[in-house]
Amino acid sequence: MTTTPARLTVLAGPTAVGKGTVSADVRARYPQVWLSVSATTRPPRPGEVDGVHYRFVSPDEFDRMVAEGELLEWAVVHGRHRYGTPRRPVEERLAAGEPALLEIDLQGARQVRDTMPGAFFVFLAPPSFDELVRRLVGRGTEDEEERARRLETARVEMAAEGEFDHVIVNDDVARATDELVRVMGVTTG
Ligand code: 5GP
Repeated sequence: MTTTPARLTVLAGPTAVGKGTVSADVRARYPQVWLSVSATTRPPRPGEVDGVHYRFVSPDEFDRMVAEGELLEWAVVHGRHRYGTPRRPVEERLAAGEPALLEIDLQGARQVRDTMPGAFFVFLAPPSFDELVRRLVGRGTEDEEERARRLETARVEMAAEGEFDHVIVNDDVARATDELVRVMGVTTG
């Protein structure tokens, strides 16, 4: 009998495609799926809870985590704040034979591809580029300069789709979430 080793799944995709919404839906409807909590130097938004949505750390603490090799990957996202995946919790999950999910940006996904050969890469795509732009502007939480910066990031990130093992079109959050959990091979009973 062969056993499939627990798999690390990386969910990436362009800005405002809805990665955060899909991971929140995973958290809400599939509590058996373990989702990595990233460290970030970005300040919390209203409603975000330290240790649940992110681990909010100072730049000095982030420097320390990098220097001590505590991060599996990290990146400066949108040219501003740093985000990274704490290594230990991911390794513990996989060692325990349980699947793990990372929701990170494309730069981070590329680092994980280099360091975790068995990982599975899922690209969350918008139904169209126009739809992505509409979502980006419609969200209204960023100022004009920030929106322009995110739009440029999105153009570059959309071109990366071919690097991924599987593409999920985020036409409907619940449907996209269900597809993600299915391709992760998680038993949903
Ligand atoms: P936000 O600030 O809107 O929560 O997230 C901004 C971006 O950072 C999103 O594209 C998200 O995927 C990315 N991100 C969140 N956590 C990590 C991480 O640990 N590593 C990397 N590389 N990107 C992350």
